[in-house]
Amino acid sequence: MDPRYSEQAEAFRERIKAFLADELPTDWAGIGALPKPEALEFTRQWRAKLNDHGLLAPAWPVEYGGSGFTKLEQVVLVEELAKAGVPAMGASDTFSMKMAGGILLRWGTERQKQHFLPKILSGEYLWCQGYSEPDSGSDLASLRTKAERDGDEYVITGSKIWQTRGREANWIFVLARTDPSAPKHKGLTFFFVPMDQPGVTVRPIRMIGGAPDFNEIYFDGARTSADNVIGEVNEGWTVANSLLGLERGDEAATNPIQFRAEFDRLVDMARELGRLDDPVIRDRIADAYIRVETMRYLGYRILTGVLSTGSIGPEASISKLQWSEYHRDVTRLAIDVLGPDAMVLEGRPPIRGYRADDPGAPNSSASWVGALYNGVADTIYAGTSQIQRNILGERVLGLPREPLSPRP
Ligand SMILES: Cc1cc2nc3c(=O)[nH]c(=O)nc-3n(C[C@H](O)[C@H](O)[C@H](O)COP(=O)(O)OP(=O)(O)OC[C@H]3O[C@@H](n4cnc5c(N)ncnc54)[C@H](O)[C@@H]3O)c2cc1C
Repeated sequence: MDPRYSEQAEAFRERIKAFLADELPTDWAGIGALPKPEALEFTRQWRAKLNDHGLLAPAWPVEYGGSGFTKLEQVVLVEELAKAGVPAMGASDTFSMKMAGGILLRWGTERQKQHFLPKILSGEYLWCQGYSEPDSGSDLASLRTKAERDGDEYVITGSKIWQTRGREANWIFVLARTDPSAPKHKGLTFFFVPMDQPGVTVRPIRMIGGAPDFNEIYFDGARTSADNVIGEVNEGWTVANSLLGLERGDEAATNPIQFRAEFDRLVDMARELGRLDDPVIRDRIADAYIRVETMRYLGYRILTGVLSTGSIGPEASISKLQWSEYHRDVTRLAIDVLGPDAMVLEGRPPIRGYRADDPGAPNSSASWVGALYNGVADTIYAGTSQIQRNILGERVLGLPREPLSPRP
């Protein structure tokens, strides 16, 4: 493994640094230093600025409004944005740009690309993800939401749950059953569905930490055009799975930067509270340091893999397990460092609902307790730790497969 970047990539880095120096105030401390309303407004304006400078869709082909940067240039871009403490996308763009946009580029027809991609880029269409159901999470293929053909449309009936950012979204991508007689992985279809219609009801779910961006979504005769099927009818499982592996290269680059900034903040807090003399705390901090640095090298390995093969292999599961379990453990350590102070919430909770708070975030009890809640959620969404271990055991180590659950 050679962790050095090419001269061309380093020249590109200088270009991005110059852009950041031009656009950010000299006393910029990172978006985490702003109060939440200002951080949200900054993100909205920053997204438009990235778009104006061709930096919002670095991976998309030029004909669809992207910049067609190389993989390495994309990685350098997200590295520099993360180091500067500015977002690489808007608040809903994990679902809009990365997932809906990425799936269109991979599976969309020319008509679908021409229609949807410009509206995703402009922010007119905002998306959420309609996979999980009350009885289908880890065993996603057991889902029951059904879609029936009616002329030029499909009629969708059923319910989804845990839709992050579901209330801001005006489109949802939905995995639904179109052939109930087929084996469970074979009768599913992937749809784009407009949410602004009478058959769609969104109900909020408040998370334990108070964050309001979780939802359940009911489909009661909701309609979508047959032109909004992505991929082939009854082949939705393949489409849905390809989405789960989209664009992990930039995550491998940003995770170590964000988690390292959070780790440094933890060490500062332990020093301020006089906890660095406690040998057990010191030992746990040393362990966290080793894990966060190992994450950086795994990131390099993923980048090397992605850059050379164009797709990510078992590293996706290794990485998800590593960063999410690290984050769960390091946030528990932070609560132990705080001690009884953790019971009195002072300061502001994290701006980000998942993973580490943004660079520049203040050190406070509310910030660390919020990070602890994020740490628990991190080991669940995008495939739980147990499911990642199953994947590694069965598909990488070749251990015997566990018995399949019976069809619902
Ligand atoms: C913060 C957050 C955001 C989310 N956002 C979205 C979203 O936007 N859209 C969306 O569709 N979904 C979303 N989800 C849902 C998420 O994908 C599911 O919660 C997850 O897949 C687990 O499913 P479940 O909650 O039904 O748990 P279950 O599948 O019921 O699992 C319960 C427990 O059993 C374990 N388990 C289950 N099966 C096995 C097995 N075969 N072997 C070993 N252990 C097993 C699990 O690991 C878990 O510990 C989100 C979840 C969270 C926490």
